[in-house]
Amino acid sequence: MEDCIFCKIANKEIPSKTVYEDDKIYSFYDLEPQAPVHVLIIPKKHIASTDDLTDEDQKLMGYMLCKVKDIAKELDLVNGYRIVINCGEDGFQTVKHLHIHLLGKRKLTWPPG
Ligand code: 5GP
Ligand code: ZN
Repeated sequence: MEDCIFCKIANKEIPSKTVYEDDKIYSFYDLEPQAPVHVLIIPKKHIASTDDLTDEDQKLMGYMLCKVKDIAKELDLVNGYRIVINCGEDGFQTVKHLHIHLLGKRKLTWPPG
């Protein structure tokens, strides 16, 4: 999608530090890390948020979620990690292309802010 920063990142029009890539998803380091390890995992297909998911996206979302453990293993998150998907204004979603935050390498607190 035009003017979507994460579509541009997935298309390599904007540089990023790649963690994992295949034909369906792209993973890269967050620009403003909130933990010693903070990476984002996005579908290459533009989906604005979890609110915009359709039945057609079920397989892709399942695929993306199942890849988290492989990426976490690759990043040596042996002690656990947190995955977060923000949605909409109250969820503090700032980039309107669905993404999973994967955070680790520190003890994360709960509840989140
Ligand atoms: P959200 O607030 O939408 O859940 O998360 C968006 C995330 O994208 C933020 O953690 C922010 O730091 C990250 N981000 C925004 N723009 C860029 C960028 O151009 N490159 C990278 N690597 N991360 C970005
Ligand atoms: Zn996009």
